[in-house]
Amino acid sequence: MDIAATLRQLGVALADYTGADLTVRSPIDGSQLASLRCHTRAEVQASITQAAEAFTAWRDVPAPQRGALVRLFGEALRGLKEPLARLVTMECGKILEEARGEVQEMIDMCDFAVGLSRQLYGLTIASERPEHSMQETWLPLGPMGVLTAFNFPVAVWSWNAALALVCGDPVVWKPSEKTPLAALACEAIFARACARYTQTTGHTLPDGLLHVLRGGAEVGDWVVSDTRLPLISATGSCRMGRLIAPKVAARLGRSLLELGGNNAVVVSDQADLGVALPAILFGAVGTCGQRCTTIRRVIAHARIYDELLARLKTAYQRIATQYIGNPLDAGTLVGPLIDQAAFAAMQKALDTARQQGGSVFCGERVCAALYPQAYYVTPALVQVPTQVEIVHAETFAPILYVMPYTSLDEAIAIHNAVPQGLSSAIFTTDLREAEQFKRRSDCGMVNVNIGTSGAEIGGAFGGEKDTGGGREAGSDAWKTYMRRHTSTTYYGTTAPALAQGIKFEVA
Ligand code: NAD
Repeated sequence: MDIAATLRQLGVALADYTGADLTVRSPIDGSQLASLRCHTRAEVQASITQAAEAFTAWRDVPAPQRGALVRLFGEALRGLKEPLARLVTMECGKILEEARGEVQEMIDMCDFAVGLSRQLYGLTIASERPEHSMQETWLPLGPMGVLTAFNFPVAVWSWNAALALVCGDPVVWKPSEKTPLAALACEAIFARACARYTQTTGHTLPDGLLHVLRGGAEVGDWVVSDTRLPLISATGSCRMGRLIAPKVAARLGRSLLELGGNNAVVVSDQADLGVALPAILFGAVGTCGQRCTTIRRVIAHARIYDELLARLKTAYQRIATQYIGNPLDAGTLVGPLIDQAAFAAMQKALDTARQQGGSVFCGERVCAALYPQAYYVTPALVQVPTQVEIVHAETFAPILYVMPYTSLDEAIAIHNAVPQGLSSAIFTTDLREAEQFKRRSDCGMVNVNIGTSGAEIGGAFGGEKDTGGGREAGSDAWKTYMRRHTSTTYYGTTAPALAQGIKFEVA
C-alpha cells in the first residue's frame, strides 16, 4: 500500500496539509496514512468569503461555459481513475472493483452535468391577462455547503459538485474526517481541470470555486451555521441530520438531506430465486454492508422461506471462507469495516438480536492475526420470527435480518414499518405483485427484480421519512441548486389589467 506514491500521482502535496490535528488510518490494516492539520474557524470563514466572492463572477458565466469546466474535470478523472480508486480503497476499505465503480459514477455525473448545462430550461406560462407574458427562469442560487459520509468519499460529493458548478454555485466541501485524503485528491484534480480551462479557453476562472475543509463535526457545524451558504447538502446518519436540519431551518436556509437507510427486499413465492439470490448477496454484503442502500432486511414468502434461507446460508458460508480479505487484492469481495466502533456496533446489534429472539449465523471477526488493528467480519444472517425492535435501526455493518410473510399486504406492512425510507425491492414474476409493491412502498426508490443498491446516476437519488427527503444526481435534482424567478411582462399601451379581474380605478 504505497500511499505516498498514490497521492503524488493524484497531485496531492501532502506536506502542505500535514499537522497534528487529525490522524487518518486505513481500515485495511489500521496503519496511519497521514496526519493532517484541520481548518480553524477563521479559515472556514475565509473560505466561505472567497466562495461568496467567486459566486458573483461565476453566476455570470454562461451555463454551457460552466459545463466546459465540468467536462474538463470529468476528463481529468478519466485519466486518474485507477489511482483515485486505489486511494478510495486504501482510505475507506471498499474493494477496488467497487472503488472503480465509484470513480466511474463521478465521470458519469460529470457527463450528465455537461449535457444539463445546455438544458437548464424554464417555462413559458399562459397569462390570464391580455398582452402579458409570463416566464419561469432558473438562476444560480449561491455558494453551497456539502457534508459527506465516509462510505462514498468521492461520488456523493460529485453528485453535488457537478450539478452545483453548472448551475453557477461554488462549493464548500467538508468531507468525512475518516476520508479526507480522497477529498484532497479531488481538490487537486479539480485544480488541474481549472488550469486546463484557462489554457484552452483563455478565460480566467474566479478563485475559490471549490474549497475542501479538513476537520470533524465542529468544522461541519461552522459550515452549516453560515448564513452565506443558502443550501446545505448533508449526507450521513439520521443522527447527524437531526442535529443539522434545525440549524439550517433556524436561519431559513435550504437543506438537502441524504440520511440513513434500512432497505428491504420482498421475495415472493413467485420469485425467480436464481435472479434474487445474487442480487441479495451483492446488496447485503457488498461494501461490507456499509452502503446507505445496503439490503438489511429480507421479507420472504413462507412457501420459499426455507429454500431461500438454506441457499443464503450456503452462500454466506462460502463468502466467509473464500472472499473476505484485503480489498486491494483481486478476488476479495468483502473488505474491512471502517473502524473498531463499527465492529463494536455490529456485535452489540447481534447481541440485541439474540436477546430479541433472533438466531445468528456468522458475524464473527476474522483475519485478526494478520490485521490486529483492523476489523474484518463474516457477514451475518439473522433469522427473526417477526420484525423485532433491533431490525428497525440501521446498524452500519453487514447484518441481514430474514423474516417470513404470508400475504403481500403483510409483506408491505412489514416493509413500511421502519422509520427510514430510502430504497426497496421486490423479487417476483407476478406483474400484479410488482405493480402493487411499486405503488405502496414508502421509499424514494423502488426496484423490481434487482437489489436496493447500485443506483444509476440518471435517476433522482434519495429517500423519504428519516432518510431526509433529499434528491441528488439525475432527473430534475438540479433544481435544488438554483432559484426560480416567475416574471410577468406587460407589453400593452393602456393601463394594465389586474389579475383575478380586480378593478382598482382612480377617477
Ligand atoms: P456521520 O453522520 O457520522 O457523518 C457524516 C458527515 O457529517 C461527516 O462529514 C461528519 O463530519 C459530519 N457531521 C457529523 N455530525 C455533524 C454535526 N453535528 N454537525 C455538522 N457536521 C456533522 O455518517 P458516516 O458514519 O460518515 O456515514 C454513514 C451514514 O451515512 C449511514 O447512516 C449511511 O446510511 C449514511 N449515508 C447516506 C447516504 C444517502 O445518500 N442517503 C449516502 C451515504 C451514507
